[in-house]
Order: sequence, then structure tokens, then C-alpha cells
Amino acid sequence: MQNVAQGPTNHICPVCAGNVDEFVPPVIVVKQEETGDTILRVGTCCPRCASEVASKPMLYADAAEANRVAEGVTGF
Ligand SMILES: [Zn+2]
Repeated sequence: MQNVAQGPTNHICPVCAGNVDEFVPPVIVVKQEETGDTILRVGTCCPRCASEVASKPMLYADAAEANRVAEGVTGF
């Protein structure tokens, strides 16, 4: 298990494209891949976006890893 106190994977909120707020705890998402699990710390701009990521982690994991907003997402 990696240290969850490290900074988030991304700088762009994958939900709304805002800047990641370092004071919002990142959402831990485990991506299961053939080469092994990747632990992402998905940073968001606010607690609302964090709970959105937590409810649909796979939707936002790739976007967070690429440091961009998730495609096909039209807000809440
Ligand atoms: Zn956001």
C-alpha cells in the first residue's frame, strides 16, 4: 500500500476541470490491470467532486491518470 499522504495523481479535477484543491483528500482508486494494480490518488477541487469520483471511480480514473476532465460527463 502506498502512502496516502502523498499528493494526488492529477492536477485537474476530472469532474469539472477545475484546479485540484490540495486540502480536499484525494479519492483512492485501485485500477486492476493485467500488469498489476495501479493505485491512483484522484484529486478533486471540492468535496462534491470527490464524492462524485467515489461513486463512479472507474469513470474518472483514466481521466485523472491523464490529468484531464472525464469525457462525456456533463456535470452533476
Ligand atoms: Zn471539481
